[in-house]
Amino acid sequence: MSDLKNFRETTRAWLEENCPPGARGPGEVSNGSTKIVIEDSDTRLWLERMVEKGWTVPSWPKAYGGGGLSTAEYVILLEEMKRISGRPALSGFGTSMIGPTLLEYGTEEQKLRHLPRIARAEVEWCQGYSEPGAGSDLASLQTRAMLDGDNYVINGSKIWTSGAHNADWMFILVRTNPDAPKHEGISFMLLPMDQPGVEVRPIKLISGNSPFNETFFDDALAAREDLVGELDRGWTVGKRLLQHERSGMESLLQGGTSKGKSKLSSIAKDYIGEADGKIADSAMRDQVLQYEMAQRSLNLTKRRVIQESADGATLGPATSIFKVMSTDLEKIYSDLATSLRGSQGFGWEGDAFTDTELEDMRVLLSSRAASIYSGSNEIQRNIIAKRVLGLPD
Ligand SMILES: Cc1cc2nc3c(=O)[nH]c(=O)nc-3n(C[C@H](O)[C@H](O)[C@H](O)COP(=O)(O)OP(=O)(O)OC[C@H]3O[C@@H](n4cnc5c(N)ncnc54)[C@H](O)[C@@H]3O)c2cc1C
Repeated sequence: MSDLKNFRETTRAWLEENCPPGARGPGEVSNGSTKIVIEDSDTRLWLERMVEKGWTVPSWPKAYGGGGLSTAEYVILLEEMKRISGRPALSGFGTSMIGPTLLEYGTEEQKLRHLPRIARAEVEWCQGYSEPGAGSDLASLQTRAMLDGDNYVINGSKIWTSGAHNADWMFILVRTNPDAPKHEGISFMLLPMDQPGVEVRPIKLISGNSPFNETFFDDALAAREDLVGELDRGWTVGKRLLQHERSGMESLLQGGTSKGKSKLSSIAKDYIGEADGKIADSAMRDQVLQYEMAQRSLNLTKRRVIQESADGATLGPATSIFKVMSTDLEKIYSDLATSLRGSQGFGWEGDAFTDTELEDMRVLLSSRAASIYSGSNEIQRNIIAKRVLGLPD
């Protein structure tokens, strides 16, 4: 038996035995925050077992708490998890953004200090990039950091900091040299959130939630050894992290995930009905088909690109293509799901609506944000034009 076939068989058997029923299908996923208690016992057990195996971050080296899997093995693991509808045991900014960035740019000491704690779900991170005057034009950021003894002292503020209220650490872009050209005086550092100099204030959204915040720094401290990369050269590190964020490596490897969403064709059949085994309304049928075809072609493109890339390598500017396509499709999905349900699609509260209808209304509202966060889609199109197609500035 080939090594990969053997790996598939042992993985399948291990998952069958170790993935508890409550960790299969939609449900809670830990992000490691010390401020969030995992309520469900199966979810907790699943996390413990996956941590022990190194499979919270399957492709990271074992020395840093990972599973040391090759890309081929990682794909098999994801396929086998999908087969039993097993949820990921851990997700968040640690596993998807700062972890891969530290693997590339961190010193050995930084990797050993931070990565195992992410892998073991002991900490959650947040992203301190955007400021009131620096969103798309991120390099205009003004939050200052000045070295004082063993610490950088940070003053200023960040905005739209997702999950800052539950985060233990922040990775932050700060200005360390105000006299240098704006891309050159920026540094990338790590700072603990639980300190007197950091204040987090929630921002309330149209959906009623407060998933993100304003974060203020008043002489906040980042240890000197938590500068990542060179002083004043943090722009390169910060940009690379955004590529990790945009690549959504896990969904790339799987060729796209459905995130447990209902299929539009099933919604159509439930709310509009069928004629000859097809969606009864021909205009709606056409729109659903166009969506399904675009989603399928995105998934196939992702799979092709990952197969063409070097083992485990994160893709470069091409990640912007996936970001634009997947967030546009997310909005089309929500718009169509709402249209298909007619007036039942517009419920906010009350017994007249099912839980799924109410949930999907909130998904529709939050889907608007997808083309803004992680760099707006207009900015992604600029990157594609310049860095992928090589068009002039
Ligand atoms: C849900 C959500 C979560 C977020 N989480 C975080 C987080 O955790 N951490 C963090 O640091 N930030 C976060 N952000 C902030 C996000 O990165 C910024 O909102 C985004 O970069 C856009 O910046 P801005 O809001 O300042 O808009 P602006 O930069 O003011 O842009 C306004 C509009 O102008 C367009 N525009 C601007 N410049 C150009 C140009 N050169 N060419 C073409 N069009 C242009 C933009 O596309 C946009 O439509 C989050 C945002 C959202 C919506």
